[in-house]
Amino acid sequence: MSGRRIVKQRRRADVGIIGGGLAGLSLAYYLSQFHDLKILVIDDGMPKPDHIWGFWDNGSPHLALAREQALSQWWHWQVAAPGNAHVMRGEGYHYYAVSSASYMKALADKCARANVRFINGTVMKTSINEDYTRMLMKDEQIVTAHHVFDTVNYIAPYDCMKQHFLGQHIRVNKNSFNPGQIMLMDFRVPQQDGIHFMYLLPFSEKKAFIESTVFSQTQLEPEWYREQIAQYINRSLHLKNEQVTVLKEEVGVLPMSKVKSKQGEGCIPFGVAANAMRASSSYAFAQINRQAYDYARAETLLWGVPEAGADFFERWMDDVMLDVLTKNPELAPHLFSRMAQKVPADDFARFMNGRSGFVPKFRTINAMPAGPFLKTIVGI
Ligand SMILES: Cc1cc2nc3c(=O)[nH]c(=O)nc-3n(C[C@H](O)[C@H](O)[C@H](O)COP(=O)(O)OP(=O)(O)OC[C@H]3O[C@@H](n4cnc5c(N)ncnc54)[C@H](O)[C@@H]3O)c2cc1C
Repeated sequence: MSGRRIVKQRRRADVGIIGGGLAGLSLAYYLSQFHDLKILVIDDGMPKPDHIWGFWDNGSPHLALAREQALSQWWHWQVAAPGNAHVMRGEGYHYYAVSSASYMKALADKCARANVRFINGTVMKTSINEDYTRMLMKDEQIVTAHHVFDTVNYIAPYDCMKQHFLGQHIRVNKNSFNPGQIMLMDFRVPQQDGIHFMYLLPFSEKKAFIESTVFSQTQLEPEWYREQIAQYINRSLHLKNEQVTVLKEEVGVLPMSKVKSKQGEGCIPFGVAANAMRASSSYAFAQINRQAYDYARAETLLWGVPEAGADFFERWMDDVMLDVLTKNPELAPHLFSRMAQKVPADDFARFMNGRSGFVPKFRTINAMPAGPFLKTIVGI
């Protein structure tokens, strides 16, 4: 006889969600707001180190909780390349930053208040049984639900370009930052190890988050990013090492590519597994929130695969952009600073968020240098 046990349930869950990260909890929260469903979230409880989520918004309903939780918001964002710095001034759109730990706690509290149930465990395999899906857990228990969403099983091509970074929350001993404006991308840094830029979020005149980000295939040693940040602080902010205190650090590696869902039998891919992440930027926060909100607010749930973070044309544009950057990494500073100069800030934000209209797409294409893009498009 098998030692597997079916977890005792008063009533089989209507919805099971594999993964209690941003995608899983956002989906659970919005489903609980719009429908009367018995929802179960299963998470393996792996540590989730706190980090910053940055995103653009213009007051959309799917980001209401995120705006409430924001550490700060900015109207102006700058892109700088050698000999060329341009500030984009958002009108409807602002750039926000939230702490992932605080946001996830707020989301988990909302879910708990809406009677979403949490199970701590690892889902190993799923299978279909009559009109429900069985989830086999690592401890051999079996959990069942009528509809199961999988936010964790997907793969990106192993050799794809990646965005890898190390960020530091710093405090300095003299007023050095302009809290009204972020540095979205500063390419005035060494470019030998990949497409490299600094990202700086000033929280006050003395406190900021600063990150060294690289687009390339290979992650670098932590010391490399630390050294880049230290040099940048010395050179651009004219601060000596002893004037800077590093409060905490965060690191990450994100794929810059479409991903392929590897969901098991009877599962609906969701979140990054359903391509919520923008391939050309790895932004996923606003996109996952929108995906969950739009899916859940449908009057009749159809249980299909949700919409990706970008529409078909934007995904094609992302592919072209990544191909151009892979073949011509030296063009990146020029390309992004051209975008900052030529695309109005709100259209830039709309395009970054994905599922934008004709105008932001047209303006973005129009800002691109024609030669390398045409070569990629005609496959030269
Ligand atoms: C450091 C960092 C910074 C980022 N910054 C930004 C940003 O500024 N802006 C932006 O838009 N995006 C950003 N992103 C990208 C994006 O927002 C995140 O990747 C987002 O957290 C994805 O959420 P998720 O739910 O898909 O995955 P996760 O948050 O990884 O959640 C998946 C959960 O499932 C659990 N799990 C895995 N396997 C199983 C299993 N078999 N059974 C049960 N549970 C399982 C994991 O432990 C985890 O808790 C950042 C990502 C990182 C890592």
